[in-house]
Amino acid sequence: MQSVLREELLISELFDALPESVILFQPVLVSDNEITDFTIGYCNNASSTFLRADKDFIMSQTVLTTSLIDNDYKNILFKQCLQVWQTGKAHEESFYNKFLGKHFSTLRSKTIDGVISVSRDRTQFVDAEKERQKQAALFTNILDASADGLMILEAIYQDSEVVNFRLTHCNKAAFKLAKFSPNSIGKTLLEILPHLEGSEQLALHKKVVETGIPERIETTFRNENGEEYGWFIVSLLKMGDNVVSTFIDISNKKQNELKIEEQSNLLGSIFEASINGIYACEAVRNGHGEIVDLQVLKINKAFTRMIGITPEVAEGASYLSLFPSAKKAGTFASYVHVIESGESLRKEVYYNDDRLNGWFDVSAVKRGDNGIVITFTNTTESKQNKQKIEESSLYLQDVIDSSQTGILLVSPVKNTKDEIVDFTFKTVNQTVATFFNKQPADLLGRQHNEVFTESVANGMFESYKEIAEGKVTEKRFESHYVGDGIDAWLDLLVKKRNEDLLITFLDVTPLKKLQEEIATAAKKLNSVLNAASAGMFTLHPVVNDEGEIEDFRFAIVNQAVATYIGEKAENLVGSLASVYFPAYKPNGLFDIYKDTYLNKKEHQFDFHYEDGYDVYFNIHTVPAGNEVLVTFTDHTVLKKLQVQLESSIEELKKSNASLEEFAYAASHDLQEPLRKINYFSERLRKGIGQALSTEENKMFERIENAASRMSQLISDLLTYSQISRDIPTFQNTSLEKVIQQVLNDLETTITLKKASVTIGTLPEIKGDPIQLHQLFQNLLSNGLKYSKSDVPPVIAIACKNVSKVIDRTTKGFYEITVTDNGIGFEQENAERIFKVFQRLHGQSEFPGTGVGLAIVQKVVESHNGFIHAEGRPAIGSTFTVLFPAT
Ligand code: ADP
Repeated sequence: MQSVLREELLISELFDALPESVILFQPVLVSDNEITDFTIGYCNNASSTFLRADKDFIMSQTVLTTSLIDNDYKNILFKQCLQVWQTGKAHEESFYNKFLGKHFSTLRSKTIDGVISVSRDRTQFVDAEKERQKQAALFTNILDASADGLMILEAIYQDSEVVNFRLTHCNKAAFKLAKFSPNSIGKTLLEILPHLEGSEQLALHKKVVETGIPERIETTFRNENGEEYGWFIVSLLKMGDNVVSTFIDISNKKQNELKIEEQSNLLGSIFEASINGIYACEAVRNGHGEIVDLQVLKINKAFTRMIGITPEVAEGASYLSLFPSAKKAGTFASYVHVIESGESLRKEVYYNDDRLNGWFDVSAVKRGDNGIVITFTNTTESKQNKQKIEESSLYLQDVIDSSQTGILLVSPVKNTKDEIVDFTFKTVNQTVATFFNKQPADLLGRQHNEVFTESVANGMFESYKEIAEGKVTEKRFESHYVGDGIDAWLDLLVKKRNEDLLITFLDVTPLKKLQEEIATAAKKLNSVLNAASAGMFTLHPVVNDEGEIEDFRFAIVNQAVATYIGEKAENLVGSLASVYFPAYKPNGLFDIYKDTYLNKKEHQFDFHYEDGYDVYFNIHTVPAGNEVLVTFTDHTVLKKLQVQLESSIEELKKSNASLEEFAYAASHDLQEPLRKINYFSERLRKGIGQALSTEENKMFERIENAASRMSQLISDLLTYSQISRDIPTFQNTSLEKVIQQVLNDLETTITLKKASVTIGTLPEIKGDPIQLHQLFQNLLSNGLKYSKSDVPPVIAIACKNVSKVIDRTTKGFYEITVTDNGIGFEQENAERIFKVFQRLHGQSEFPGTGVGLAIVQKVVESHNGFIHAEGRPAIGSTFTVLFPAT
């Protein structure tokens, strides 16, 4: 027992020396399995300190009744003890004792007679933990505030080899930059970014862990889907078993770098592709710092081509050795000046030495501190073009000067209120100057209104002003310029050209005068047309879709036409002809107009216009340009007279015929009593003749003579009336034969008178042989009869072919002349002698009846011929007969 006590004491002392509180809770059993409370069976010193009570007092307490424990906690403690007692499972908890202001951690476990609870003061530890957490939060905040990404990756080993990393920390920037999802912490790197499997990056992480040597790389990142993005600089640092990975986004910088690279590539290619020669040099200085030469650093293809050497030879070469003449020419000095002063140089130079030939636009710019860039542009061609342009502008000037059009360029003159008050001449050509008897140079620079003094009054200046002010951009107008010694019509075209005005004009005075003359002539023509009694109009064709003329329109209509139609001339112009002449198509006029228009054929004809009128027209159609000119005269009155006349002639013919009938009958009947007179007179004279005196006998003679003359008269009249009555029987008749017969009949007389008759070649004509015989008998017997008493008659019969216009047609005739050398007659009697009983000579001198030539005329008429006589007293007569030549 002593040893047990001692051991118990030892344990108690041991427990009391412990800083932890040790309390034994013993169950209070009411029955076998019902525990109503726990009593505190033991507590050590530390417990008395924690519970702030005497050990003895504490050991007399039960859990549910003690005042040492907070009411809320009593039940919790009871249940915990009960659970440990009943299950045998230890219970561990941490709690805060607010009375002591301390943190405890307690372990309750079952012993043989109760539940032993060991509590440890953790206040210091908890406070340290809090401090640590505070520090960690601060650290996280600091890291999160950083723009750089930071991750802590814990190495995962497998068989002492790093195979993967676990993400243990990641700052905000890292989440964002690495595009990690918020739940990535705790996951392995290969879980988050599977594409890193076997990658160089992963190997590099491993290397850092294994060697401890920090690494730095420039890389793009990939997202979970393996898509590449951005550029980053990643630094890896070993920290224990971790790798601290920090990274910064250099995408912008990278892009800029790429851009710069691109640009420099671009510049390079521009440099090379440029058609301008470019080269860069660096100054070569002597010991005194003076520039003595240039060294060619870079030269482009264009320039090496220009100077004909390869870039390999040129680059690095001495400038002066490449261009030895540059020093003498001053080029070198000007480059030196560029380098020393920093002033750029640009000039056009003509080279004809070293390696260049032609015009070059040279520019030199200082480069860096000691360099120069020189560009060469070959301007030879553009120089030549410029020369050509200059030449062509000279040529243009010539054109302007020699132009018949007046050309001037004027620029506005403004007053202080910015109003245009005049224009000055900038360009004036010869045509303008000639108006003032001046040279263009005399007018240049002068003011328009001082030269054209009338231009304000006549509105010309106002027009120019309008255009110069931009109210209109262009204007064409006609102006009658009178003044300054000019009286001319000008056709002006004014255009705005920048600030200036380009004025061109044509002197249209001759044209204007011609127009006026034409207008007057037209007026005159119009009055002539309108004064003409003849109707005149022109027709313009109206063509249908098939191209056929279907009607005409009046184009010009004179007053006479208008009066006929009963419509004003101006109303008729443009109207369809068919409206006013509805019958002109059926009555054929339309076709005639059409023929004149289409075939340019003239027509003249008489036309009886019946539709609504009863008029006779003589219509004349003439093609007139694009129209048909129709003139017509109304001869209705004449025509009606003619009709009347024709019927009168017919009447007359009838009465003539009955008269001739009567004459014939009368002459015939008269012969009988005449014969009786003759017979009885003869018998009386013979019977009583001897008883009668000479005087009385002569009376008988006179009676007989008178009777025989009467008989002759009657017989001639009979012949005359017979010819009038008889219808000639036309047949081919040889005039030669007829005349030969007549001469036979007249043979005695011819012989007596010692006459000579010559006959030319005579034709055969269509005629009545008996009547023709009569005709020539009468003419030839007259020729013999009316001869001079002392000169034997000479008669000539001749014939020739002639033509004569009858009824507007030309016809052929035989012209037969019978000429004698007889007594002739006064020409004034030439027509009279053809009338019945008309005689020019006394009966005693030349016996006759005065019927012979009347019969001749009748025969000629019945043969559709013509006759006329020409007489010259004491010289002779010619009778000319015309017979139609069939
Ligand atoms: P006649 O001879 O019977 O008198 P004509 O009728 O033959 O009648 O002639 C009319 C007139 O014409 C003649 O009286 C004569 O005065 C004139 N005459 C005719 N033939 C000639 C002629 N050959 N020379 C001159 N006068 C002529």
